[in-house]
Amino acid sequence: IPDHDRPLPDAASRTCWESGAQSSADWRALDAAHNLHPFSDHKALATEGSRVITRAEGVWLWDSDGTRVLDGMAGLWCVNVGYGRPELVQTAARQMTELPYYNLFFKTATPPAIELSRKLVELTPPGLNHVFLVNSGSEANDTIIRMVRHFWALEGQPERRVIIARDNGYHGSTLAVASMSGMTAMHKQGGLPLPDFAHIREPHRFKVAPNTPPEAFAHEAAGWLEEAILSIGPGRVAAFIGEPIQGAGGLIVPPPGYWAEIQRICTKYDVLLIADEVICGFGRTGQWFGSDTYRIRPDMMTLAKGLSSGYMPVAAAMVGDRVAATLIDRGGEFLHGFTSSGHPTACAVALENISILEREGLVDRVREDIGPYLMSRLETLRDHPLVGEVRGQGLLAGVELIRDKAHHTFFSPVGRVGARCRDHCFRNNAVVRAVYDTMVMAPPLVIGRDEIDILVDTLSHALDQTHQDLP
Ligand code: PLP
Repeated sequence: IPDHDRPLPDAASRTCWESGAQSSADWRALDAAHNLHPFSDHKALATEGSRVITRAEGVWLWDSDGTRVLDGMAGLWCVNVGYGRPELVQTAARQMTELPYYNLFFKTATPPAIELSRKLVELTPPGLNHVFLVNSGSEANDTIIRMVRHFWALEGQPERRVIIARDNGYHGSTLAVASMSGMTAMHKQGGLPLPDFAHIREPHRFKVAPNTPPEAFAHEAAGWLEEAILSIGPGRVAAFIGEPIQGAGGLIVPPPGYWAEIQRICTKYDVLLIADEVICGFGRTGQWFGSDTYRIRPDMMTLAKGLSSGYMPVAAAMVGDRVAATLIDRGGEFLHGFTSSGHPTACAVALENISILEREGLVDRVREDIGPYLMSRLETLRDHPLVGEVRGQGLLAGVELIRDKAHHTFFSPVGRVGARCRDHCFRNNAVVRAVYDTMVMAPPLVIGRDEIDILVDTLSHALDQTHQDLP
């Protein structure tokens, strides 16, 4: 048993909570009474009860019963440097002591925000020389939408307003970015999408064209963008946005040549190319950014999650020279921003988090060692009767389940079997995510080989259990 498994006090031993909650049952009851969770069926959650997470270290979580759980998802794809980093705690404490808050509005600045912007310019692909700091991936993408439309208006083409994204792409949860996301279930709540968002199909070869060679499929799938631009009218299209690897939409790894073709089409029609790096950034794919892995040269890029490894809410919209020049020279006051944009504590923690990634060579480790190891272990599941495809890049991996391999038929209703497999994993004390019927993993970049073995063995056992459950 790894030495992470040392005893830790559980929540029940903490007495300072005002509610007087003492046990897991107390927490669950309070949670069900008051707490509306994101992306949760509240009624089902109240019946089943939440699992209350009280502590974490490395790649391990502890729940309020003291049970240790392997976090195969790095929280929500974000805790890249792992849990329990004293450097980040000390940095936050130091910054909060010196300057706990100030903002970037109305011609003020703070050293952490200035330094973080400089660092992000240094790390990201060439040409992205300006940064707008915000607090979440949703805000970063929202910021991009406003900037892009403002840019085209300043360029004398105000009718270029449409942003094309992809089915099942996820860009966040505000009204605008939920509209930009290609999640039809989200659109059904609240009368979305807002106007001027369009969606093309995602490049999911295994699902739609398993017999087409990858290069030919890449060409075909990128061609859907050109078709959309032509049908909307090139003069109306402002930008195309995509995640280098589509994460929350089912771990869709682009076929070779896809992004080069997308880039070519964007250039041809003068459509801005935006990379949503909220998941792929900060080493997840084995390079600093997914754009490095796929040689994308985006006009703009959004960052969040791994930027602070989730320790503080902080995010950024990277703005390329072309857009920045127009906004700065001719844009006047940009009427946009948040109270906590560039929060000094969040920025200081993000800088220290980036230092850890650099000092410990974690990005190289993902590319050269631990990413390939995860993939090689997952490959051993390929012969399981439920496993249709194993795919991934770096420490982003997906195992897609299928009903009948011989006839290439999928489960109906989609997602039920995946959710069951995920629940088995969780009961067996490993967190993996189910996106429809794809089991997704994105562990902290510090995960060890022994811990990957535990993760894959747990998934393998859960697959067996799920298979036994099938009628
Ligand atoms: N973009 C991508 C690719 C994401 O995966 C997410 C969140 O999962 C977001 C944007 C939204 O980020 P946030 O939840 O910080 O608003």
